[in-house]
Amino acid sequence: MSARMSALDSALHQLGIAVHQLGLDDGMHAMLATPRRSMQVAVPLRRDDGSLEILSGYRVQHNLSRGPAKGGIRFHPSTDLDEVRALAMWMTWKCALIGIPYGGAKGGVAVDPRLLSRHELERVTRRYASEITPIIGPEKDIPAPDVGTDEQTMAWMMDTYSIHSGYTVTGVVTGKPVSVGGSEGRGGATSRGVMYAAFSALHEAGIDHRGATVAVQGFGKVGGLAAQFLHDAGCIVVAVSDWKGGVHDPRGLNPAALLRHLRSGADTVVGFPGTETITNAELLELDVDVLVPAALEGVIHEENADRVRASFVVEGANGPTTPDGDAVLEANGVRVVPDVLANSGGVAVSYFEWVQDLQAYFWTEDEVNDRLKRLMEQAYEQVSDLSRERGVSLRTAAQMIGVGRVAEAHRTRGLYP
Ligand code: NAD
Repeated sequence: MSARMSALDSALHQLGIAVHQLGLDDGMHAMLATPRRSMQVAVPLRRDDGSLEILSGYRVQHNLSRGPAKGGIRFHPSTDLDEVRALAMWMTWKCALIGIPYGGAKGGVAVDPRLLSRHELERVTRRYASEITPIIGPEKDIPAPDVGTDEQTMAWMMDTYSIHSGYTVTGVVTGKPVSVGGSEGRGGATSRGVMYAAFSALHEAGIDHRGATVAVQGFGKVGGLAAQFLHDAGCIVVAVSDWKGGVHDPRGLNPAALLRHLRSGADTVVGFPGTETITNAELLELDVDVLVPAALEGVIHEENADRVRASFVVEGANGPTTPDGDAVLEANGVRVVPDVLANSGGVAVSYFEWVQDLQAYFWTEDEVNDRLKRLMEQAYEQVSDLSRERGVSLRTAAQMIGVGRVAEAHRTRGLYP
């Protein structure tokens, strides 16, 4: 079995392809490959039983040439500096691709939030926020939710930062509850964007989305609502999964009922009445029109890509397909709508939230959703046009647009000193 590429290797490999296609020189390549700032912090946690544990926390600002840094905070046991660096780099290209004035960042704490009490979770969040406070702020770096964090995490981070500042600073994070400066529509934004991306790809190929079959890996913030939106729009969601495994019903699942099941206290979709249990590996290989990986990185790789039978892979997660996996999918004619495009709805509405916070003037949910739809459809069209023009995959085209815009900003600003 060959060693699988890490997220950072994948991100650097993809950057190399875009740099080559754009004809950028070695100096610019090195500039784009290197994070501007990486911060590692100790996060001491007093457990409820009185014992003390020291966790590792990270915040990486990959690029600041187009504006403040932007990116999520991940609480997951396998989070490390290299993973955060990869995720920060993808954020840079994503923000540039969809034309919002941010650089990319990412952060995280190596911890399993499911093993902490709510009080412990709050203490971890507040101490981590406090440790990274010197480098974040509405004009510097604006965190948001990611795997293992949610709008409550963002409310605690906003509160901690505000207490340190001596006044309320709503614009320091996005993905907050509406009651403390969040935006209408942010909760479902990434998932709504995944749906628009899937529809753009299907419609471009002359396929009606109504009746299209879908499988979704990861039934969290992104995957859960993506399944629901796709179902509500007429797709047949035949399988979904989470950390424990998946459920399958060829006649179609009811995602809203599954979400209610989780909200009422279940910790997995596995075992939901009337469904057949499948593994995460089996889900990826189902014969469906659209596969939406919406959990973690590197799940489609050299060894299983050949068994993917979906016609379209719409990447809700960041980095779910390794470059080796990508090559196999491309050779097999599977159309991959890449992460930086497919899941950009989240950061798009995060940008809308930040703009609303800075202006202290809030929009309706319809306004937010309309702007999101326009932005995503426009980005898909630009990527698809370039892909046709240059004979490259949608991923390479998306990376070329993102990387090209960041390189242009570097050139225009010049090098200090
Ligand atoms: P989440 O924590 O809300 O959900 C993650 C889901 O994946 C859960 O259902 C979890 O059970 C499942 N999961 C965990 N480990 C798994 C495994 N080994 N196999 C299968 N499933 C597993 O996280 P999220 O915010 O939905 O993020 C999911 C992905 O989407 C990540 O790659 C994230 O970076 C990306 N993303 C999130 C946002 C956002 O706004 N939240 C925006 C863009 C991209």
